[in-house]
Amino acid sequence: MKQYETVIGLEVHVELATKTKIFCGCSTEFGGAPNTHTCPVCTGMPGSLPVLNRKVVEFALKAGIAANCQINQYCKFDRKNYFYPDNPQNYQISQLYLPICHDGWVEIETSAGNKKVRIHEMHMEEDAGKLIHDEWEDCSLVDYNRSGVPLIEIVSEPDMRSSEEVIAYLEKLRCMMQYLGVSDCKLQEGSMRADVNLSVREVGSESFGTRTEMKNLNSFKAIARAIEGERERQIELIEEGRTVIQETRRWDDNKESSHAMRSKEDAKDYRYFPDPDLPPIHISDEWIQKIRESQPELREEKQLRYQSEYELSAYDAGILTESRHLSLLFEEVAKLCGNPKKAANWFMGEVLRLTKDKGLDVEKVSFAPKHLSDLISMVEKKEVSAQNAKKVFEKVFEEDIEPVVYIEEHGLKIVEDTGLLNDTLQKIMDENPGPLEELLGGKEKVFGFFVGKMMRELKGKASPDAVREALVKEVERRKNL
Ligand code: ADP
Ligand code: MG
Ligand code: ZN
Repeated sequence: MKQYETVIGLEVHVELATKTKIFCGCSTEFGGAPNTHTCPVCTGMPGSLPVLNRKVVEFALKAGIAANCQINQYCKFDRKNYFYPDNPQNYQISQLYLPICHDGWVEIETSAGNKKVRIHEMHMEEDAGKLIHDEWEDCSLVDYNRSGVPLIEIVSEPDMRSSEEVIAYLEKLRCMMQYLGVSDCKLQEGSMRADVNLSVREVGSESFGTRTEMKNLNSFKAIARAIEGERERQIELIEEGRTVIQETRRWDDNKESSHAMRSKEDAKDYRYFPDPDLPPIHISDEWIQKIRESQPELREEKQLRYQSEYELSAYDAGILTESRHLSLLFEEVAKLCGNPKKAANWFMGEVLRLTKDKGLDVEKVSFAPKHLSDLISMVEKKEVSAQNAKKVFEKVFEEDIEPVVYIEEHGLKIVEDTGLLNDTLQKIMDENPGPLEELLGGKEKVFGFFVGKMMRELKGKASPDAVREALVKEVERRKNL
């Protein structure tokens, strides 16, 4: 069989995290009762007029600048005309001729090294409502809460060659949007959606093959499976001497196969024209400058700063900055306890372990930074054993308890009081006359046996060093009796 190369370009829709919709004052909040976040504008009532939400332009600019795009300082909105019940105006307000951002790039990391994926454009548009097909028999329902929620569509050049590159690209975009605070990019909730355009060609061929576009992909895993499936389907067609038809296909992740939805529509099918209700936008140099200056520290910069300022390894810095939310929590703890390395160890170890074990979304991890910082300090001051500290942290992680109080109340504080140590030691020696005899007879091996018994009995209230010291003293004393 011939060798084939996969060629992939993505159209990614990102819902912007503005409080209100793009052309009206309705809330963008996810999950409200159906049709409660609606008004005449976002339900397409005749005579209603759209008013552009300035924040949408600002967020689009933030995203475009972060992705190294050129800005169209004069841009406008166009109507994309089509009928569908989730689209009450019978047109979608989008940008065809002059998208706000164009010609950018992002860098992705893969096992084969770094690579730039070029961005053709980013444009602003409104989302459609949502059709619900499976609630009532024989009819579909529609919820317009999502109608008019602002989106940016990020169109890449066909620069990706594998599902690994596609996932790396999507993770890169998601991380960037979350750091910028312009979107939470949740695939499950649909605030990030990717359409995959894919074609195959013989290795060495200069021109691209015919592509198909796949929709309905709502997890990274589904995207990877869809890419493998579609690549195989196209290769099979070509090998059989048939042709790939340019069309839109729907991926069914349960069946792990796709089926044709519709033949590919062209821009001309939509009868695009400039929206007469919205004046063109002029984006001033000052506005762009202001946004450039207020861009937050992005992941790459943060990663480098953790290495230089906190002396963390590139690997640790990479993990700790994966989620902006977690990185901010980590920075607070590091600042409060004054020991970034120790704080990093706790995050790399316990925080991430518990997050994984409990199947929690990292974005939902939440505890008072002071509580972990207190715990770190207590371990440092040898007021609590490392082992008990881990157990207490589980409580901090789950219920955000106050470790100082909790440790006191549960008798987990290491007592340097020799009274308790000695009493426990006498008790254990009385209970184990045989091993005691061996110990006094000079058998080194039983020393560990007694230390172990003591540690168990004291439940971490004494440090191993203190136990050993007390034991040595007691053996000496008894020998000299
Ligand atoms: P349309 O506007 O008709 O959807 P575009 O030219 O804007 O088409 O391309 C849409 C997406 O398809 C882009 O992400 C682009 O990179 C990708 N694409 C275009 N041609 C190919 C191809 N031959 N193989 C794979 N992807 C492609
Ligand atoms: Mg398109
Ligand atoms: Zn509205």
